[in-house]
Amino acid sequence: MKTIAVDFDRVLHSYERGWHDGTIYGTLVPGADEALRTLMAKHAVYVLTTRRPLGDVARWICWATGIPTAVMSDTPEREPWPYVVQRRRFWDVPHILLVTDRKLPFVALIDDRAIPFTGCWPQALAALNDLIARKDTAMTDPAQRLARIAALCDDTDLTAEQKVEAIQAAVTGLADLEHRAPRSAGDLETK
Ligand SMILES: [Mg+2]
Repeated sequence: MKTIAVDFDRVLHSYERGWHDGTIYGTLVPGADEALRTLMAKHAVYVLTTRRPLGDVARWICWATGIPTAVMSDTPEREPWPYVVQRRRFWDVPHILLVTDRKLPFVALIDDRAIPFTGCWPQALAALNDLIARKDTAMTDPAQRLARIAALCDDTDLTAEQKVEAIQAAVTGLADLEHRAPRSAGDLETK
């Protein structure tokens, strides 16, 4: 059995409005439920997030997927979720999805913002530059913004209110949403 780490925002949680007000407002990313079950059939899996409280993330994943979840915390009284495990150095428990803010050993991390490092720094820096350029283009190119608005209009998972808010964000400038100052330094790393 191997251990696999999975990011939360944009990987499990749709996160279409960015950090917004810090709540988990979105929907399950298509295919996430099946993917987690497939991974958990063979491996120990944990979710790596800096969100607080961790119990909110565990509760939301359990509600959205039906998968049993637990959080790793030294302060279970602060967690709005009854399934808490004590701090440990690795995760090897099958069939329970752990939610933690600690980077425990893993064979792979599934993350929307990771750049694979293959031992070649120039390659990694080039990949980073490509990623930033694509992100800038997506925010300034009118055609791409229009496509985003059209996609939001057709999104059947969003309520009318959510659509209006997301479309307004797209119209007034995704850059504002994306570049909003994170609430803590940790937010920069895993969101
Ligand atoms: Mg993410």
